[in-house]
Amino acid sequence: MTLPQPRVAVIGAGPSGLYAAAALLAAGYGDAGISVDVLDRLPAPYGLVRYGVAPDHVKMKSVIRVLQKPFDPAEVHFLGNVAVGRDGGGAPGVPLEVLREHYTAIVHATGSSVDRALGIPGEELAGSIGSGAFVSWYCGHPDFTELDPPLAHPGVAVVGAGNVALDVARVLAKSHEEMAGTDIPDRVLDALTRSGIRDVHVFVRRGPQHVRFTPAELRQIGELANAEVVVHDDGLLAAGIEAPEDRRQRQNLEMLTRWAAAGGSEGGTKPRRIHLRFLRSPVRLLGEHGRVSGVVVERNRIDADGRVVGTGEEETLDVGLVVRAIGYSAEPVPGLPFDERSGTVPNVGGRVVRDGEPVPGAYVTGWIKRGPTGVIGTNKGDAAETVAALLEDLPHLPAPAHPDRESLLEALAAYGVHPVDWTDWLRLDAEELRLGAARGAERVKVAELAAMLAACRAEAEVS
Ligand code: NAP
Repeated sequence: MTLPQPRVAVIGAGPSGLYAAAALLAAGYGDAGISVDVLDRLPAPYGLVRYGVAPDHVKMKSVIRVLQKPFDPAEVHFLGNVAVGRDGGGAPGVPLEVLREHYTAIVHATGSSVDRALGIPGEELAGSIGSGAFVSWYCGHPDFTELDPPLAHPGVAVVGAGNVALDVARVLAKSHEEMAGTDIPDRVLDALTRSGIRDVHVFVRRGPQHVRFTPAELRQIGELANAEVVVHDDGLLAAGIEAPEDRRQRQNLEMLTRWAAAGGSEGGTKPRRIHLRFLRSPVRLLGEHGRVSGVVVERNRIDADGRVVGTGEEETLDVGLVVRAIGYSAEPVPGLPFDERSGTVPNVGGRVVRDGEPVPGAYVTGWIKRGPTGVIGTNKGDAAETVAALLEDLPHLPAPAHPDRESLLEALAAYGVHPVDWTDWLRLDAEELRLGAARGAERVKVAELAAMLAACRAEAEVS
């Protein structure tokens, strides 16, 4: 029996979506395979690899070579600049119901883009920023070009003990020379170069044995040209902490113990310091003229059940910027169920479920499926699970009402959505490489949406 060619849309061109697209292609379904479109609300692909991986983590970004493979022989179609279900960053959006008329199945891979809040007084002050926004700013995300974080004050607080907290602390502490060779936009490089920051305080609510850093990331902050690490642990490390079972936590503990014993990482004369302050939680932010001027932190203890308990002992530090790096939540997708508690779309193995019943043709992968955990590679296995579920369902899913590309483009145009394709993206890519060559960097990002679109369409308009 000849199976009709199914059409699948993957929404989100980040690592989770692109691993799903590759798995769909590799599935060898039917005679003609599966037709796969990858949609993204931005004109550029790669999601968190482009806008979340720290700019100085160049090696990590090389995964792009793997992620782009299905586009190069044009087996998968890129539809950038397509916001789905909402008005994304000023761009018009196409409702999900409309897309459903054009695809057999839809895989949602839009990640977790909402910063979790601390829920403390003063959090709304200017200069109190979630790590999602802050990281997006320095990575040149078009939604955050106007963020203008206050960098003049010598003190900064970073809240959290995950890799994102370390990324933020490291980028703030690095020298101009260390950042100039990365892909950050010129405007971000200028702001970081002019920064008056001297002390980056990282607040960890639990002890040195509980941090969630990967050891390689922790090691990096001890090797900066411009900054040393100072450990504030109330003498816990010198007194000795039982080695954790987890290998990574043990390695972190060994490193922190060495730094604490040495009075810090090497280089006591460097102009900046990254302070790791354990057992401390911010309890309120202080403000002057509506802007952050300080942070009050409470000392914690860990009770017999491993819970964090405040001791009532408080101290105040002068800071002009507070970045909370305490995790993310997904943005609900209009038309799909959403679990507010976990910040994910309810699913079983990638099949979206509403009230325990699968929603036909709807799938999730990546952070929107499992929450904001794991490294880029984690998404590969995650996508494989989702695609396996989709393939199992495909023979039972009805064909879309409008299976052809022309009617899709017409429908998008009716909502004011004019996609860019892979060739358009390659023009923007070339422009970024050109800007990079001029600064002695591999690439310099174009951050403004209008400029991104202009670069995408430049030659198309000339020819
Ligand atoms: P994360 O690893 O989950 O860390 C979140 C941190 O926030 C934890 O230390 C947590 O402390 C703390 N926290 C949560 N609520 C808090 C509160 N109310 N007050 C104070 N602290 C609070 O999340 P992430 O750093 O956002 O990273 C997300 C994922 O991306 C992780 O899997 C991470 O490894 C990955 N990532 C990897 C890299 C890399 O490989 N280079 C870089 C960036 C991100 P508790 O432990 O006490 O809960």
